[in-house]
Amino acid sequence: MKSLSGKLLELQDIELKLAEITNKDYLEKTGFNIDNEKVVELLEYKKKLETEIPPQYLRRYRALMSKYKRAVALVYDNTCSNCFSKLPTGIKEPSDNEIVFCNVCGIILYFP
Ligand SMILES: [Zn+2]
Repeated sequence: MKSLSGKLLELQDIELKLAEITNKDYLEKTGFNIDNEKVVELLEYKKKLETEIPPQYLRRYRALMSKYKRAVALVYDNTCSNCFSKLPTGIKEPSDNEIVFCNVCGIILYFP
């Protein structure tokens, strides 16, 4: 069972990937030749993943994506990797169904 923040991180990675593989420059540089069928597969997987995320978090995710071009940031050394603020002491890895947001930039935090 994946955690909620893990699912959101996965969704972010899929969306970034979809943006890459529909970009001609990226395909030229990497030499990837990705047929449409694979793109459709990934889109279907994304749709399924979205149904596993509660709508209020999906809305927050979309708002963050449009602001920062990402919605989930990794925590390193007790620091938000989006805005580089130190997290307040006492912030801990959330349980599987909870989400912790950065108190400075509001991004969804992922604790690797
Ligand atoms: Zn932050």
